[in-house]
Amino acid sequence: NICNEDLVQTKDTLRAPVICVLGHVDAGKTTILDNLRRTHVQDNEAGGITQQMGATNVPLDTIVERTKMSRKLISRQGDFMIPGLLIIDTPGHAIFQNLRSRGSSLCDLAILVVDIMNGLQAQTIESIRLLIDRQTPFIIALNKIDLLYGWKSNKEKDVESVLEEQDSFTQDHFEKRYDEIIVQFAKQGLNVALYYKNPNPNEYYSMVPTSARSGDGMGSLIAMIIETSQTNLAKHLSYTNELQATVMEVKAIHGLGTTIDVALINGCLSVGDKIIVGGQEGPIVTQIRRLLIPESNQELRDTNQYENKDKVMGTCVVKIAAKDLEKSLAGLPLFIARTHDEIDYFKNEIELILTTVLNSFKLK
Ligand code: GDP
Repeated sequence: NICNEDLVQTKDTLRAPVICVLGHVDAGKTTILDNLRRTHVQDNEAGGITQQMGATNVPLDTIVERTKMSRKLISRQGDFMIPGLLIIDTPGHAIFQNLRSRGSSLCDLAILVVDIMNGLQAQTIESIRLLIDRQTPFIIALNKIDLLYGWKSNKEKDVESVLEEQDSFTQDHFEKRYDEIIVQFAKQGLNVALYYKNPNPNEYYSMVPTSARSGDGMGSLIAMIIETSQTNLAKHLSYTNELQATVMEVKAIHGLGTTIDVALINGCLSVGDKIIVGGQEGPIVTQIRRLLIPESNQELRDTNQYENKDKVMGTCVVKIAAKDLEKSLAGLPLFIARTHDEIDYFKNEIELILTTVLNSFKLK
């Protein structure tokens, strides 16, 4: 479990990045998400994905297994410095927009899904605007490559070599679609390049050809997520003790009352901590009674089995049981207060965020 209180932290360890998936309707966002969060990798060797709450925790061993064909994409000889990925379960830019962590977006890295047959569409462009606006780095999945003429699938290889091995008419079809899409991105002011030809990742957004349906390119996509996290995002992903947490879902659970599922990005939470969250009628101050994580290797949705923890560290999703959570709101940050002054300070902070959120709704 990446929700690990015993995790050894060194200068080389980074926290798990929070990944979200955006793009036009029908581009394949949900299918890509399902593939990224897959519990069983064909031969079942790299299972162990824990279904979290509102987000899925993909542990390192699964990533290692799934990127074995694309290890050369990861610098430092294929070394892994992140403990896993935390993938937001729900696709779409509304989710990206609504999950806040101290005012900014919760998402560290986005996957922008583009249907290779349709190119950039209305919601692709909306998503690009939002990502640029929030300064969120992203990787482009050029999805549905299995629909190219005569496509021959091979998900065991890096998609660069799979493309090389296609018949020339399939390659021509790819080039034609690809050239058109580069122009469409240029019209949006963005430079894009195939991930294996990217001359400078600081200037060009990487595109990974994928088929979420056949699995082609999915290993390469995951390898690019790792590589980007460990290079461009490394500074941003270093551990800090400062709490960074967002309420993902509010749920009534039999025997526990109303609980909140919280994405803990940085810092730690302990039973007994005094927390402040946003509520329908203003800030709610309460105390953590129980911290629950899904039992290892269980799919939470099927079992409802939780493991009690005294303390959890980021990055993971944890269920909090506490009094007075009935009216709490999802999408807002959670704070811990240690003194009366801190309670007042964070109540104020929540008030400010609530006002901003309400105003932005009024504007829509
Ligand atoms: P979303 O609206 O962006 O979440 O798109 P979905 O994931 O629901 O996919 C829309 C449709 O496209 C579904 O019928 C999927 O099965 C199909 N689809 C998704 N990915 C691929 C792909 O890589 N290849 C093909 N051929 N179809 C796909």
